[in-house]
Amino acid sequence: MPLSNMAVRDIETVIHPYTNLARHREVGPLILNEGRGIYLYDDTGKRYIEGMAGLWCTALGYGNQEIAEAGAEALRKVSFTHAFGGKSHDGVIELSEKLKEIAPCPASKVLFGTSGSEANDMQIKLSWYYNNARGKVSKKKIISRIRAYHGVTIASASLTGLPWVHNDFDLPIANILHTSCPHYYRYGQDGETEEQFAARMAQDLEDMILREGPDTIAAFIGEPLMGAGGVLLPPKGYWEKVNAILAKYDIRFIADEVICGFGRTGNWFGTTTFGMKPDSISMAKAITSAYFPLSALTVEEDLYQAMLDESRKLGTFGHGYTYTAHPVGCAISLKTIEIYQRDKIMEHAAKMSPVFQMRLNKLADHPMVGEARGVGLIGAVELVADKATKRPFDPKKMVGAATVNALQEMGLIVRNIQDSVALCPPLVITTDEIHEMFDIFEKGLDQMEAWARKENAR
Ligand code: PMP
Repeated sequence: MPLSNMAVRDIETVIHPYTNLARHREVGPLILNEGRGIYLYDDTGKRYIEGMAGLWCTALGYGNQEIAEAGAEALRKVSFTHAFGGKSHDGVIELSEKLKEIAPCPASKVLFGTSGSEANDMQIKLSWYYNNARGKVSKKKIISRIRAYHGVTIASASLTGLPWVHNDFDLPIANILHTSCPHYYRYGQDGETEEQFAARMAQDLEDMILREGPDTIAAFIGEPLMGAGGVLLPPKGYWEKVNAILAKYDIRFIADEVICGFGRTGNWFGTTTFGMKPDSISMAKAITSAYFPLSALTVEEDLYQAMLDESRKLGTFGHGYTYTAHPVGCAISLKTIEIYQRDKIMEHAAKMSPVFQMRLNKLADHPMVGEARGVGLIGAVELVADKATKRPFDPKKMVGAATVNALQEMGLIVRNIQDSVALCPPLVITTDEIHEMFDIFEKGLDQMEAWARKENAR
């Protein structure tokens, strides 16, 4: 099919993130200008299920008029106020109170940004600042994990543990370490139980801390489950062990709740689902159901006291963005959280979870699927060439990407991370819509299986 006029204009003007830019010149963009509920519509009117909630973020789906109205009202009232020099507005005060109330960790204050990357970037800066303030000037390294995703700014991309985020960008920066990825299916050894694997992963972390010297480690950051690294669930007992190790060595524990926060795993926060005990959490995405770019992190009391001391000394707290606590973002977030609470969206997601997980688990029987894994309303299947040995497909065959393309043709938008295909629909999805989504998914897998046989791809 020839490319549309808008498609040609896109190719000639737009740089697309996480896109094969060479292939994009041939196939062009998928132009999506409208959305309602869990559905998006392209420029030809074709309907798609948004099986990824955008980028793991549109928890309430599309077209929520109440949120649109809250945003419009905020824009009409005062389009911009900032938070520098002690300036404030009702929205940021009310939102900070609300986030403190629902946060799964002791939170003294709240600090805002506009993206998940920024929130994690701030976490690094604050961890450094804290240790300078309390005179532990050599305690600066941050431990992340292989296959983690924490963002793409220079510092947050360094936390991310994925090669394509580092390659050619001269990353990671110094003092960012990556410990082992706790994915049992891929990295568990023969005969090792899940609990033994969790213990080995925790031991790897402790060994790294001891090797580097506990006095050099400022913080550890972890997603409750690793999202953009492939929806990798922690093995049983992992977080309990990690909690203990971090407490033992006085290491600040940051939970990156950017994907898991606001209901994704069946509770308000993934921290609760997996029994983590963080000092601080990063939030973004569903904090506004993606109706506005906003992120936040909680500041614990000790850190706040250190910030107070330091700003007495330095005369100011030298950090902040023009759009820290943007009034429109705050109004939209408050309305989004009001809807989550009023319409019992977390309860709805928890109720839908067994249907979603039942259909997901059924995919484990498919000849293309090595592992089907998930919790709450998030999951992934890992496509393999050989189920018995877990042997992956040749990466050059790009089976994951081909599967996503086939599903898109069939009206389902999902996302691959190499040969894992992720599902993360809006939390407002209904039982019928879950079945509709998995019916398409199964058809897509069957098509890929026929392709693999024809191509001798195994
Ligand atoms: N942390 C996690 C866990 C994420 O999944 C993401 C984005 N997918 C980020 C941070 C970065 O967020 P953003 O893209 O808003 O910068």
